[in-house]
Amino acid sequence: MSAGKKTTPSRPRPADRVEHWDIETDVAIVGFGGAGACAAIEAADAGAEVALFEVASASGGSTELSSAEVYLGGSGGTRVQKACGYEDTTKAMFDYLMAAGGDLADEAKVRAYCEESTKHFDWLVSMGAPYKNTEYKERAIMALTDDCLLYTGSEKCWPFREIAEPCPRGHNLEIEGDNGGPLLMKTLTDQVEKRNVRIEYNARALTLIHNVEGEVLGLVVRIDNKELNVRARRGVILCAGGFVMNPKMLKQYCPRIADGPLPIGNPGDTGSGLLMGQAVGGALVNMDQHFITLPYYPPSSLTYGIFVNAQAQRFVNEDCYHARVASRALDQLGGKAYLIVSAEDYGHPSFMNAPIVGTGETVEELAEEVGLDSEMLRHTVDFYSRHAAQGEDPLFHKSAEWLKAMNAPYAALDCSLGEGAIYAAFTLGGLDTLPTGEVLTTEKDPIKGLYAAGRTACGIPRSASGYASGLSVGDATFFGRAAGRASAAHEPGL
Ligand SMILES: Cc1cc2nc3c(=O)[nH]c(=O)nc-3n(C[C@H](O)[C@H](O)[C@H](O)COP(=O)(O)OP(=O)(O)OC[C@H]3O[C@@H](n4cnc5c(N)ncnc54)[C@H](O)[C@@H]3O)c2cc1C
Repeated sequence: MSAGKKTTPSRPRPADRVEHWDIETDVAIVGFGGAGACAAIEAADAGAEVALFEVASASGGSTELSSAEVYLGGSGGTRVQKACGYEDTTKAMFDYLMAAGGDLADEAKVRAYCEESTKHFDWLVSMGAPYKNTEYKERAIMALTDDCLLYTGSEKCWPFREIAEPCPRGHNLEIEGDNGGPLLMKTLTDQVEKRNVRIEYNARALTLIHNVEGEVLGLVVRIDNKELNVRARRGVILCAGGFVMNPKMLKQYCPRIADGPLPIGNPGDTGSGLLMGQAVGGALVNMDQHFITLPYYPPSSLTYGIFVNAQAQRFVNEDCYHARVASRALDQLGGKAYLIVSAEDYGHPSFMNAPIVGTGETVEELAEEVGLDSEMLRHTVDFYSRHAAQGEDPLFHKSAEWLKAMNAPYAALDCSLGEGAIYAAFTLGGLDTLPTGEVLTTEKDPIKGLYAAGRTACGIPRSASGYASGLSVGDATFFGRAAGRASAAHEPGL
């Protein structure tokens, strides 16, 4: 009973108001995307009775919309890394992810992820996910061929290459085009359907049910316009995605992407999972952090160019991963960022859509067309070119493979937010959890009976500047499985 008030995620239902249970199960999972599917498979394989509630009329979520690259390695390498001649170490992977996460990194989760990463790869393969023993060597955002292994982060870039031995860890499914997400979700959905899992589509989880001790006993779902009380004896796992489709929450928690960037995700990314967890005492962490991309490559030749701000000064090593560059660009005064490139290196960006706002036979001519200080731009280009010709970048240590002196004529692309260039974002904040998926309070006490994974939780990916493609699906599937196992093992309540 809702006692007259509308049932919302922020209003948990006290157990003493539940007159009867409409559905009873061991483990109840909210959301049938990547995290929810993996949680269901593992909980069922551990012998638990599982019910999966999905608001949409099919499985998928953002995982299905994604390229489904997964970031995996360590332990001597995945089967693909080894076949491609890489002997990845757990230490290198750990050091890289810790450096990428910086002050925001969750060491316990990073450790668990790195130590078990190759086993997770084997598990995905055992579920039927196909990965070819080949490498895609181009600098790219995703492999549009069916090749597997590629660099998807800033491993080869300064400062990371000085901290950890670089190794490619992005794993792309064996399918042509950008079709990894549908293939991964079909593979996982088939596995869930093979098991004894009760799947309810068109079922919106409304709120959690908890008792006076603070233990989560179940949840309320709306099916066929009726509110049903679901008893989950061993726990509820929230796998309902992030909050990029909730403008109010974005304004409150993550204002940097509230206006301007394109929100990417599925319509269910409304933050309902986060709010449900928060309402029973779960702590929300990292809420101001997000992924953002400025997809300025391919073509990779644009990496020979330089990004400058409104002061005509460089602000980043341009060989970094696109989200790191996007994040640095947004940090510039007024969000102004221009990509200056020699005509010989220019190729129309495949995805970025930024307008050409200037061309010039000389730097001065270019500066005038763009509206930049010509003396400063001349200094920036000369300084860069002088050192690049020697294979050096004393300011930002761009890798030698992307360094060469700039030559006239030049072009400038306006990559400022709001001027046409695509900036696409999703959220990285969520419920604070242990590596087991147990949801923590602000005092770091686990909430009995409550788990979260995927973008509902705050996982391995912590910021745009430390992001690598494959960390979200890797994290969602890995920690979804962990939450499934932990919940299935939880002593059932009465
Ligand atoms: C275009 C695009 C490309 C991407 N490419 C990559 C990539 O290559 N690699 C990578 O690592 N990451 C990528 N990402 C990010 C990644 O896809 C997501 O972060 C990740 O898949 C999230 O998984 P999830 O299980 O947490 O959520 P989802 O897969 O979104 O699943 C959540 C599910 O919960 C359901 N739900 C929500 N609220 C409720 C409710 N109240 N009741 C019932 N059900 C509910 C939703 O309908 C949804 O089905 C990409 C994202 C996009 C949008």
